[in-house]
Amino acid sequence: MDGFEIAVFEGDGIGPEVMRPTVELLTALARGHGRYALNFETLPAGAGHYREHGVSLPGDALARARRADAILLSAMGLPEVRYPDGTEISPQIELRMELGLYAGVRPVFQFGQSCPIARFGGDQRPVDFVIVRESTEGLFYSHGKGEVIDDSEARETLRITRATSEKLFDFAFDLARQRKADGRGAGVVHCVDKANVFQAFAFFRRIFRERAEAFPDIRAEAAYVDATAMWLVEKPQVFDVLVTENMFGDILSDLGAAMMGGLGLAPSADIGERNAVFQPCHGSAPDIAGQGRANPIAMVLSAAMMLDWLGRTRGQEAMRADALRIHEAVREVVTSGGPLTPDLGGTASTGEVVAAVRDAA
Ligand code: ATP
Ligand code: MG
Repeated sequence: MDGFEIAVFEGDGIGPEVMRPTVELLTALARGHGRYALNFETLPAGAGHYREHGVSLPGDALARARRADAILLSAMGLPEVRYPDGTEISPQIELRMELGLYAGVRPVFQFGQSCPIARFGGDQRPVDFVIVRESTEGLFYSHGKGEVIDDSEARETLRITRATSEKLFDFAFDLARQRKADGRGAGVVHCVDKANVFQAFAFFRRIFRERAEAFPDIRAEAAYVDATAMWLVEKPQVFDVLVTENMFGDILSDLGAAMMGGLGLAPSADIGERNAVFQPCHGSAPDIAGQGRANPIAMVLSAAMMLDWLGRTRGQEAMRADALRIHEAVREVVTSGGPLTPDLGGTASTGEVVAAVRDAA
C-alpha cells in the first residue's frame, strides 16, 4: 500500500479547529478501504509561533514541508501580531514564494441555489468556474520590499516574468482541458488583466496568446479585470477557467467565495512544480476563534482538492475517488439543510458538520 507524507500547518485562530476534524476525516476514509495511507506531521508556523519564538516559519518546518508529498494549511495570522514593518504575519505567502507555488487554484461552484448573485443575470444554470491566480509575483512580488519615501510617497513594484507566465498559462489551459474531459467546463480560458493601461499586462497577455497556440482545442479569450468583475455578477456562467495576476486573483477570489455562499465554503490550492499547499480561502477569523462554530467546509473541500491532486499526479485512483466522495458528501449536507454552522444560518458546531460529512461520504 502506498503511503503519503502530509505536512500540516494548523496555524492560528480557527485554524486548529477546522484542521483537526478534517485530518480525522481523511484518516477515517483512508483506513476504511486501506488502499493508501496518509501520515500527517503537524508543523509549527504562524502568528502565535512568531509571538512566542520570534520566527513565523521555522527553517526546519519549511524543510519538512518541502519534502512532504503535500501540504495542508488552515489559516495563519492574527491582527495584533505584526512584523516590525507593520504587515501581518503571513507564512502562507512565504511558502508560495519559497516553494514556487505559482498557480493559485480557486474553484467557484454552487451547491444548489446557494448563490443569489447568479440569478442577477436571469440565468439559472449553476456557476462553475476556476480562478487560477498567479501566486509568486505580480504585485505581491513587492511583499516586504515596498518603500515609504520621506513619509511623502510610497511605492510597490509589479513584476511579470515570461518564465512564470508561461508555466501559469500552460497550467490554466491544461486545467481547461481536464474540465472539458470531465464534462465540467466548455474549454475556455479567459486571461484577466489590465492590458489597456499597463505594459506589464500587455506583456502578460502577449505570452497568453503565444501559449494558447499549443492548445488549439481550448478557446483563449482576453478580458479586462474591471469588465470581468462586472460579468462575474451579471453572467458568471460564461466562465470556465480564468487566469490572472496575483493581486487581481486575490480580489476576484473573494468575490468568488461570496458567490459560493461565503468564505466558510471556499477551498483553494497553490500548486508548483513539485510542491502544493491546500488551504481554505478564509483567514484565521479571530472574531469567532475558540467558540467551536467555525465552518469546516472550506477546509474539508481543500483537503478533497489535495486528494484529487495527489490522485492525479501519483496515479492513485482511490484518492481521486475519495475526493469525489467528500465533495458529494458536502453537497448532500449543504443542500439537505445541514447540520450547518451559524455563518450558513445553522446552529451546528464545527465537529458536528464534519461528522455529518463523514457519515454521508
Ligand atoms: P485574511 O487577511 O487572512 O484573509 P481576513 O481579514 O480576510 O483574513 P477572515 O479571517 O477570513 O478575514 O474573516 C473574515 C470574516 O469571515 C470574519 O468575520 C470571520 O469570522 C468570517 N469567517 C472566515 N472564515 C470563516 C469560517 N470558516 N467559518 C465562519 N466564519 C468565517
Ligand atoms: Mg482576506
